[in-house]
Amino acid sequence: GATIGIIGGGQLGRMLAIAASRLGFRTVVLEPQADCPAAQLCNAQIVAAYDDKAALADLSGRCDVVTYEFENIDLEAARWLESTVALRPSSRALEVAQDRLVEKTFLNDHGIPTVAFRDIGGADDLAEALRGFGGRGILKTRRLGYDGKGQVRFRGDATDPSPAEALQEICHAPAILEEFAPFSAEISVIATRSGDGTTVCFDPARNVHENGILATSTLPSGVDAGIESRAKDLAGMLAGALAYVGTLGLEFFVMEDGSLRANEFAPRVHNSGHWTEAACTVSQFEQHIRAIAGWPLSSGTRHSDCVMHNLIGNDIARVPDLAADPDILVHDYGKAESRPGRKMGHFTRIVRRVG
Ligand code: ATP
Ligand code: MG
Ligand code: MG
Repeated sequence: GATIGIIGGGQLGRMLAIAASRLGFRTVVLEPQADCPAAQLCNAQIVAAYDDKAALADLSGRCDVVTYEFENIDLEAARWLESTVALRPSSRALEVAQDRLVEKTFLNDHGIPTVAFRDIGGADDLAEALRGFGGRGILKTRRLGYDGKGQVRFRGDATDPSPAEALQEICHAPAILEEFAPFSAEISVIATRSGDGTTVCFDPARNVHENGILATSTLPSGVDAGIESRAKDLAGMLAGALAYVGTLGLEFFVMEDGSLRANEFAPRVHNSGHWTEAACTVSQFEQHIRAIAGWPLSSGTRHSDCVMHNLIGNDIARVPDLAADPDILVHDYGKAESRPGRKMGHFTRIVRRVG
């Protein structure tokens, strides 16, 4: 059988390795942390930094195709890897997704609307951009933010920091200011595109965040069917524009008037798609493996309404109780220690069967 390389051995790498093994593939994971969530589930681990050239050469020599579980891989390293082995999705997807300014510009250029945003070079830029947005907005680092980290909110009131304080808070990293979106809901679409251009989307999930971290994803989303189908179309447009191969997650704000604003996308399997392992025949993880291995894609049909809950920090202690509920599928990532704010696992409650 073929061997699949996975850069990153966190929970997403672990779930990709499980899906790959079920289809008969071998997996080699590149991850510097020896005791990582994917360690027990892959066939071999290369313990080295993600941009270590010798390690990447080793990975490429041992694999037929290489994929990744996170978007912050050094671009030069990814391009070099791509010259030696099939990298799916490509380095282009990384390039676009790892910088919010490039990402939002790309989305708009391809007909996918976002909230208004401004490139921020310093305190003067920030003051001017804030005035343009009526004093409200969110300052975000262009790179490396996740779970709401690297963001400063301006509410247009006395609690707001000065521009200089806000830039200090993000350590003067390159940043953008986004207009505040007074959304009525947040949804996301998980889409998978194969090498022949076939694109399949799962139903959009309605996402609720707590403290900047995804808390729940609910299916169905409860937004109008027309909005859902528009969101799927936009995800398909994004996948096409990137000549994408694999699974991606595209997050949206649903505005009061029903229009959509893309927030960001992840060039990988996505937390808001974890419900697919419980409520679809083929999960987002298996769809990804199918796409990168050149297999046919599943239809992505959802057989149940469901709610996925993340287990953050000590929530993981709930697993034994949750497992006693016959309508719940639990997933523990096997992380050695729980820390506040750390994603330790998730569970999906099946609400009812549909169709
Ligand atoms: P993730 O863990 O999803 O990668 P992130 O750190 O990249 O998170 P975003 O997705 O940009 O951050 O923002 C996190 C959350 O903050 C959003 O899901 C949304 O709830 C809120 N948010 C972000 N940008 C805006 C905005 N422009 N207007 C209103 N709310 C926003
Ligand atoms: Mg993000
Ligand atoms: Mg997000």
